[in-house]
Amino acid sequence: MINLILFGPPGSGKGTQAARLVEKYRLVHISTGDLFRYEMSNDTPLGQQAKAYMAKGELVPDEVTIGMLRNKVEKHPEANGFIFDGFPRTIPQAQALDKLLEEKGTDIHCLMALQVDDDEIVHRIKLRGATSGRPDDNDETIIRNRIAVYKNETAPVYDYYAEQSKSHSINGIGEIDEIFDRLAAIVDSVPA
Ligand code: AMP
Repeated sequence: MINLILFGPPGSGKGTQAARLVEKYRLVHISTGDLFRYEMSNDTPLGQQAKAYMAKGELVPDEVTIGMLRNKVEKHPEANGFIFDGFPRTIPQAQALDKLLEEKGTDIHCLMALQVDDDEIVHRIKLRGATSGRPDDNDETIIRNRIAVYKNETAPVYDYYAEQSKSHSINGIGEIDEIFDRLAAIVDSVPA
């Protein structure tokens, strides 16, 4: 199994690159943001729990997010591996993920962090907001809060996996194909 974490601030291109990695490596893509949006659009209890946090650009509480992630992983016993996109975003989430994968006799192959500066992120998210219909993409205060939450709560996850020698930093600026080649070079260089 190959289990990848696609890491980086909001708007760094994780979703775009995840779609390509899925094609090349035949992995199951799990985006916790997409899962929450799906729950919200169906007005489920989980969606209702997540809604207020997402609207402010805050993180949904760990126990809610971890439970949802676990359910999703368990729905794919046939998977060759997973691409985790937007998860883990806190150290407790990373610990829960490691435990879940260990129970399955596997682990994280590598974490790849896309590096994009703040002004470029704000620019990209505003562009995306014009078509995504996401309220959290259409308000600069919320976008800036999401970036601050990333720096304060999520960035430590990079160091957590660096301690296991699994973290890699990638330049997230350039053509989509170029960035994809940088990611694939890392996946291919790490022994399974
Ligand atoms: P994203 O689509 O990854 O930018 O996520 C959109 C929003 O969903 C975030 O701003 C959070 O409110 C929520 N969210 C997504 N993934 C997580 C996570 N792993 N932990 C907590 N909240 C999350």
